Amino acid sequence: MRVHVVGNVCVDTTYRLDRFPAAGETLNASEHADGLGGKGANQAVAAARTGADVRFHTAIGSDAAGTWIREQLSRDLDASHLTMLPLPSDRSAIMVDGRGENLIVTGASCAAAFDPLADGGFARSIEHGNIVVMQGNLSPETTRACLRASRDAAAVTIFNPSPLTAGYAPISSDVSLAIANAGEAALLTGAAEPAAAAREMIRQGAGAAIVTLGAQGCLVADGEGRIDRIAAPRVTVVDTSGAGDVFCGSLAGCLAAGIDLATAARIAVRAAAISVGRAGTLGSGPDRREMKILME
Ligand code: ATP
Repeated sequence: MRVHVVGNVCVDTTYRLDRFPAAGETLNASEHADGLGGKGANQAVAAARTGADVRFHTAIGSDAAGTWIREQLSRDLDASHLTMLPLPSDRSAIMVDGRGENLIVTGASCAAAFDPLADGGFARSIEHGNIVVMQGNLSPETTRACLRASRDAAAVTIFNPSPLTAGYAPISSDVSLAIANAGEAALLTGAAEPAAAAREMIRQGAGAAIVTLGAQGCLVADGEGRIDRIAAPRVTVVDTSGAGDVFCGSLAGCLAAGIDLATAARIAVRAAAISVGRAGTLGSGPDRREMKILME
């Protein structure tokens, strides 16, 4: 079954500094490097590494960064369908200081303007039983409309409403599976306790819900509100960034391979743990060979 990931992609430029600049100050970074980022891209790549047939619906700008993004994505998936907008490609500047704290600024004009439903192509590409994965980076209206169109086409929808910016699409009956980390689940539901938050997401309309719990793994609530707790393997933490995206993308890929939800969540927890033990966001997730072993 095909996995459609609908979301954002950007160029993350990371600057390493001893300390952050004060207002009006200019500092030289000790290192800087570009990397592919965006929750949509992270999840699409993680899903592709399960061996799933992934279609990534996203927008790039008509600039050199857009060409670079396409090349990077092509390492893992078919990047021939990306929408090109007459805008600068999305970018984040990430400053990391000597203590590992970060400050991030994002320019997200492509994500804000992207409407996959504009030319009818998205709706036509979704087939019965396909899996559609969305995050919180596109506009709430677009997210809501894509989830609705996907359910109208009898697809299975996975919604990870992160980041929770000022306005976000609500959990609704157009969501087959909601996935949120503990903090976001509490904000979305008003329930501080993760199991209660998962049950509340189901009450809001989701068919099932997962709350990820960092080093504690995750909990899965099925449609009847039964809770399955899945522990994470112990790892030495190197860099947790992108762990949630590895979890969501791997889980979607496993579901597409016909694996049941509880088993898929167990595999996703182990995949995310691998990413936590390595530096980086996209590059730190398991590769295809490692995913194959986890799925055996
Ligand atoms: P991030 O923002 O870091 O990408 P998140 O806040 O969206 O992650 P978390 O619940 O922190 O989500 O982590 C997602 C998954 O990653 C967890 O369910 C778990 O499987 C794995 N994970 C995260 N931190 C650890 C850890 N310290 N040890 C093992 N696994 C971890």
